[in-house]
Formats: sequence, structure tokens, C-alpha cells
Amino acid sequence: MSDEAVYPVTDHFRNKALIDKETYESMYQRSIQDPESFWAEQAKRLDWMKPFSRVKDVSFASDDVHIRWFDDGTLNAAANCIDRHLEERSGQPAIIWEPDEESEDNRVITYAELHEEVSRLANGLKSLGVKKGDIVTLYMPMVPEAAYAMLACARIGAIHSVVFGGFSPEALAGRIDDGGSKVVITADEARRGGKRVPLKANVDEAVSLCKESSVDNVVVLKATGGNVDFNGNRDIWYRDLVGKQSDQCEPEEMGAEDTLFVLYTSGSTGKPKGVVHTTGGYLLHTSITHEYVFDYRPGEVYWCSADVGWITGHSYVVYGPLANGGTTMMFEGVPTYPDVGRLGRIIDKYKIATFYTAPTAIRSLMAEGDAPVANADLSSLKLLGTVGEPINPEAWRWFHQKFGKGQCPIVDTWWQTETGGILISPLPGAIDLKPGSATKPFFGVQPALMDPEGNEMEGATSGGLVLKDSWPGQMRTILGNHQRFVETYFSTYEGCYFTGDGAKRDEDGYYWITGRVDDVLNVSGHRMGTAEVESALVSHDAVAEAAVVGCPHEIKGQGIYVYVTLTHGQSPSDELAKELKQHVRKEIGPIATPDVIQWADGLPKTRSGKIMRRILRKIAADEFDSLGDTSTLADPNVVDDLIEGHRVAA
Ligand code: ATP
Ligand code: MG
Repeated sequence: MSDEAVYPVTDHFRNKALIDKETYESMYQRSIQDPESFWAEQAKRLDWMKPFSRVKDVSFASDDVHIRWFDDGTLNAAANCIDRHLEERSGQPAIIWEPDEESEDNRVITYAELHEEVSRLANGLKSLGVKKGDIVTLYMPMVPEAAYAMLACARIGAIHSVVFGGFSPEALAGRIDDGGSKVVITADEARRGGKRVPLKANVDEAVSLCKESSVDNVVVLKATGGNVDFNGNRDIWYRDLVGKQSDQCEPEEMGAEDTLFVLYTSGSTGKPKGVVHTTGGYLLHTSITHEYVFDYRPGEVYWCSADVGWITGHSYVVYGPLANGGTTMMFEGVPTYPDVGRLGRIIDKYKIATFYTAPTAIRSLMAEGDAPVANADLSSLKLLGTVGEPINPEAWRWFHQKFGKGQCPIVDTWWQTETGGILISPLPGAIDLKPGSATKPFFGVQPALMDPEGNEMEGATSGGLVLKDSWPGQMRTILGNHQRFVETYFSTYEGCYFTGDGAKRDEDGYYWITGRVDDVLNVSGHRMGTAEVESALVSHDAVAEAAVVGCPHEIKGQGIYVYVTLTHGQSPSDELAKELKQHVRKEIGPIATPDVIQWADGLPKTRSGKIMRRILRKIAADEFDSLGDTSTLADPNVVDDLIEGHRVAA
């Protein structure tokens, strides 16, 4: 890439950070050389009911994959996120909620109130017969009750399975069936960007579609007051359920390896997998990463804009910040409603210190020029973060400049649903930044790059990204299918966890995620990541967003097929197509020149904002009949538009 700029640790963080350069180096070394003692010490940040005597019991050997941490210790995740903070912080906001409609009242929930709400709901769930080990499905709007429901499950030892509130009844039914839920918690409707989603009606349909599960109870939160059909034998209003319950509920003593939750991956590469996370290791990992990666200090208002329906919402809206006694922001809406200035207004309103979001949100704002920050002060910000996809250096710089005023570091955090928490990321006081690079591994994380024959490569190079040893937050299995777990993650490179991602390591040992290995292009024998070509395109003023896939090409083996969304006010033309091709040639080289450019008003994205390149690959190859699972798409309609556009472009 032409961009080799380095942004050194800022004075603010050099002087005040929790972890500075020397501390990072020495702690990292210790975490690798003696993981047992390192993690035993770190685990003291949690409150254990019964202390553990064993730290780590792990095998990555493909004939015996097992992962256990602290397995004879016991604790309760909800007690760690709530009860232990009561003495010092009962009056401090635990959750601040900003509604979709700006004119409506916000909600501020203190730790004392969180304790009460969660305890009542926990008792309510017990009254419905929910027991330790049962799976409860949550299909909720982005409201505090979603967090209450997760924590109420954790409190009584039930396993939550959160399904994003925008998924179809079919997708919901599949997930209810997979876990065998008897209880579903939902709301009348969800709101996002002024639009409504009929959650309760979707649950009704999903329940009727279930083949394995018989859902006994549906708990319904009145969120919007919208009309619902009410089945008196099965359905119960949330407030009726909790209203009559005691506000005291003893937290259940859970083994560290008891399952805390199941969550399905976003499905950008195939059928979603039910990822299983357990209690002790997951909570330790989310808590320690939340504190050190975001340099979090109690009292600060921290905002992660992810929905609780995906892993970032679990780890960095709910469990990490609350385990640390933090104040976590929940936003019901979207960045562009009622206008593109919304995020800036929220940051100013709550004096947000840290803002953690996704590259897709940044690109959508970047397309609007200065408007998103024109009237915002933003001086409360000290740190920015991104997750979900490689961030294009152009978008990085825009975010850094416009939101961070050139002063706030950006932590580009690489991780997966499977990893539970952040694995590769800068620590703001320790690691100089390079736009587009997730930089260095977190404590205990041992990345390596593999060649296609399965040999580990040294030095500056690129290859398949693996992790050579376990970390506490690692997933333990795929729900009900350990064999698929082993095959998916441990069979490609013997003895290693394979991430499915490709990465490059530079001379400074920095990691640059280049995209899924399936997305690596091979043009006339030259391998390059889709991320690299996309970043070159996005660095052109006319381009808001780009997705690059390989397409069959008679001479080159693979050609480069590009989908481009233009910025506000730009319109497609043959001249612009030529100019973009020229631009990529100049940025990367002739080998990367796009073969086909298709104009696209929208791209197929998962609900968590990731581009589903597998669908774009199929369209580029004329294989419209085998698009695969599209149930997790945010807007299935874009597929038809793209097929139409392909006929024009090709
Ligand atoms: P599925 O596994 O079902 O296809 P998914 O991989 O999209 O779904 P997630 O677990 O939400 O589901 O996403 C993890 C992936 O997101 C990573 O493997 C990586 O490809 C990408 N990713 C996340 N954060 C970053 C980042 N900071 N830089 C680059 N890529 C990232
Ligand atoms: Mg994945």
C-alpha cells in the first residue's frame, strides 16, 4: 500500500496510559512464556465463589480438541457485572440509553437499578420454570431490557442465545430449534431509524415454524406500544412477569466452564455456526481487553455502537464494560437518523470518552463529507475504535481527523465471534498506529502466518492467520456439533486454530488483515487481498464504498470484479469507470487493474454491516441459482438489484 504513515503514541496516552510500551512488552513476554501464572494472576480481576486450582487444560490436536480454563473454579457472571460494584457504585450509571427518536426521553440506569431489574427478571424466568443449563432465546430491540435479559439468564445459570432483532422468522426459528429453547424473550416492536420491525409477529411465525422446539412461553416487552396478537396461554407481558417478583435473587454458582451463552456467527462465509462461550474465561477476556484496549477508567462514558445481537454487543456493550464497573452507552438507532449529525450530537450530549464502531458506519458517514461533524464539538473524545472489517486507510484518516480532531488514537481491533474478545489491536499507550493495521497481539495471543503447505513463515510475509495457543475467551465448541468445530478450525493446520482470515506481517511485526482467505485474489499468479484493492478504490473521492471479488477470466485465471457505491452527488459514467481503473493502477500497480466495474447503490451486508463477498462472487460468475444462505442479510432486496446491474455491467 502506498500508505506507510505512522502515528506515534500521543502525549496524552504516553503519560497517562494504563499500559505503556515497556509494560506491554514485558507483560506480553510473560503471557507467552508462562501463560499459567500470567492468567492465574489476571483472573484475580474477577470475583470467584470458589477459587480455581487449574488454570489451563488445552489441546489443539485434531484428534482431541478440548479447551478448558480455570475449570474447577466457580463464579457468576451477573454477580461480577453487577453485585460486586454495588458497594462503591450503586448510584453510578451502569447503562445510558439513547432512544431512536431524539425528542424522546433517554434512560439512565444505575448499578442499583440494574441489580433490581435483573434480579426481578431472573426470578420471573425461574417462575416460568427456566433452570440452570436451559437455553433462552432473546429477540430484542436495542433497549436496556435486552441487557437485563442476558444478565438475568446468567444470574440463574440459564444460557442466552441472542438473535439479532432484524432477522426473519425463518432465521429465528432455526436458532430456536438449534438450541431447543422453551422460552423466548421479545418485544412488541423494534425501532431503528424511524422504521419498525414487528418482533412479536415474527416470533409468532417462528414458533409455528419450529420443528424441534416447543416454545412454552413468550415474554413480551412493551417497547413501542404497537399492536400484537396475544396468546394467553403462552404469552406474558414482561412487566407483568417482573412486577410481582422479589428484587432479590441469589446468583447461581456456576463452573467456569459452564456455558454462558450461544451466539451464531454473522454468516458472511456460510451457514451460521452456534458458537459456545463459557463463563470464567470469556468474562476474564472481555474484562481485561475492555480495560486495556480502551484504556478504560471508571467514571468515563464509553460507547460501543454495536447491537447486542452480535458478539461485539455481547463483549463490549454488556459484559466487558459492566464487569469493569463502567458506564456503557446503548443507542437504539442508526448513525444517519434523523440525519448524519446524530452520532456527533450523542457524543457531545453524554461527553463520550471512547467511541467504538464499524468501518461500514464510518464509510457511510464519510460519503457525506463534513456534514456528520459540522456542528459537533467532540472534545470529550479521547479514543476511537473500529471492528468488523479491515478499515481502509482513507476511512481511518477521515475518522481520525473528523471525529478525533487528529488527537484521538484509533484502536483497530481484530477478532471474531469465535475469539470472544479482541485478539489483535493497538493498546493506545503502547503501540504506534499505522492506518489499516490491527498492529500487535494482545496478551497471551500467539498469531502466526502459514503457507499453503502448512508451514509457519517467519518475518515480513503474508499467509493464513492462525493462533498457536489458546486464550481464555476462546469458543469451546459449536453447539451440538463438536465435529464441525474441529473440522472448521483445527483441521486446516494441525495443532493450530485457523481463523479463516489472511494477513500480512510487515517489518515491524505489525499485522494487516487482508480479508478471508477465500477472498484472496489470484490474478495471473499474483496473490492480493480484496481489502487492498478496496482501499485503493475508497481513497478516490467519488467512491463511498467498494467490494472486490474474483471472477472467472480466461487468460488471467481470475479477473478483478468491482462493485462500487458512489459518494453523494456523484453519478456513474464510462469516464469515471476509466478513471477508477487508472486510480487503482496508480495506487497498487497494473496487476490490480479492475476488469469489470459494476455500479451498485447498495451492497449485500450482514446485519453487523459486513459485506457478503460470497454472494458478490456468485453474481460476478453468473451463478445466480446458488447464492447460498442469505437469511442473515440486512436487506435481501439488494441482491435482485445487483443481479440486474450485473447484466448491464458484464
Ligand atoms: P461467518 O464466520 O459466519 O462467515 P463472520 O466471520 O462475518 O461470519 P464475525 O465473527 O462477526 O462473523 O466476524 C469476524 C470476522 O470479521 C473476522 O474473521 C475478520 O474477517 C473480520 N474482522 C473483524 N474485525 C476486523 C478488523 N479489525 N480488521 C479486519 N477484519 C476484521
Ligand atoms: Mg467468521
